Amino acid sequence: MRSERKRPEWDKLYNLAEWGRIKERFRAEYPLRACICQAQDSETGQQCNQPATEIDHVIPHKGDWFLFCGGIDFENLQGLCHRHHSEKTALELSGKTLKQRRVIAWCGSVPIYAND
Ligand SMILES: [Zn+2]
Repeated sequence: MRSERKRPEWDKLYNLAEWGRIKERFRAEYPLRACICQAQDSETGQQCNQPATEIDHVIPHKGDWFLFCGGIDFENLQGLCHRHHSEKTALELSGKTLKQRRVIAWCGSVPIYAND
């Protein structure tokens, strides 16, 4: 494990004009999911409900174009407030995953979660 915090290689995907279009379409088609922070408190299970300022990939795409574009019906995108997005990103960069429901498969556009 290297200790340096290097930006991952796929970070450059965010510079593409396509990312702007994806976010625009996501906000237009799923305004609630895009504009309200979807993070849940790990203890209370309460949704954050702060205005979402950032669009997050539920499953880290790691350069995968399908996941990067949001998968089917943008199921892989969610709005997060700045605080929750920073927390999630920091965890992901450190190689850990958030304690959140993990999608293990897709049935059409419906995600199947572990521990359901
Ligand atoms: Zn939040």
